[in-house]
Amino acid sequence: MSESTPSTSRRSFLTRTAAVVAAPSIATLAVGALAGPASARPAYAEITLPDYAPVPASALGPALNEQGYYIGQVERNLYWVTDGTYQAAFLTTSDGVVLFDAPPTIGHNLQRAIDQIAAANGVSNKVTHLVYSHHHADHLGASSLFGRNVVRFGHAETKRLLLRDNDPTRPAPDVTFKDRYTLRVGGQRINLAWHGTNHTPDNVYIHLPDHDTLMLVDVAIPGWVPIYNLNLSEDIPGFMAAPATALSYPWKHYIAGHLGRLGTRDDVVLHQRYITDIATNVRTALATVDPTPYFVKYGPNTWAAVKTYLDAVTDYAAAPVIAKYTGVLAAADVFTTSSTLVILESIRLDLGVGSQVHP
Ligand SMILES: [Zn+2]
Repeated sequence: MSESTPSTSRRSFLTRTAAVVAAPSIATLAVGALAGPASARPAYAEITLPDYAPVPASALGPALNEQGYYIGQVERNLYWVTDGTYQAAFLTTSDGVVLFDAPPTIGHNLQRAIDQIAAANGVSNKVTHLVYSHHHADHLGASSLFGRNVVRFGHAETKRLLLRDNDPTRPAPDVTFKDRYTLRVGGQRINLAWHGTNHTPDNVYIHLPDHDTLMLVDVAIPGWVPIYNLNLSEDIPGFMAAPATALSYPWKHYIAGHLGRLGTRDDVVLHQRYITDIATNVRTALATVDPTPYFVKYGPNTWAAVKTYLDAVTDYAAAPVIAKYTGVLAAADVFTTSSTLVILESIRLDLGVGSQVHP
């Protein structure tokens, strides 16, 4: 697939701008229901919003088309599709199309992208298999668009969680596995593996050995730091171990589920360094920041003392990381503090660092 031309870049920018401009009106509707008459609220333009460091060009992907998506070839008959924020992938085979995840934000553009590739290559555009990376709605909420005649594959825990949450947009997988499963469709190999809890208890590694590709969603995000709390992850030690597991596979192309571009091994290594730097600084901060003044100041308000002390440790640890990665990973100044707090809590609570037994 060709890289963006100036004209498509501009179109994409306009598309993205339209999406960004649309967002406040949704927020206004939601807030308006609670906040009373419009005249009582400040106009959008009057709200003071923080400024952040510019997004490095290396974090951005190719321009989107007029429908708001980009379709790219990963290798041979493996393709990836993005709306600039979410990513899915698909494999065209002689027995139909295997789709990997179905983010609702890409929605009907998934089939449009598949149709475009199928028509260009004279192959079937019929999705016959759908592989789930994990149970989250933001990656699967367009699954039901593909109807009942698709065979869905996922981890046993994905099935349990989807049956529990009972969301009609995400039918539970028909075929499940616990540790490993090799899916063969039209002579193509797809190795699914579970290596323990990380982002979620059910997040799996999707390896396409004949396409030099690994798909691992919501762990390392090429060019960007994780969002809140290390991508809202449920198991912090598991999340921190996942990049090494990813790198233990042979692959060249990394499909991360976010944001606008594919990843490389260097992206995963950079993510790993960023996380290691936070963890190293947290240990230093725990040994450096004196809790005494916080507990003296707040006396009986234990939570106020705990909050201000842990916030101080977090800020002490995060500040040098923000300085080091600004301009290297996008949004280092937006989300590093949030992720530092969960690493701090994991180092305290999972690893027991700083625990003191009363004499
Ligand atoms: Zn997720």
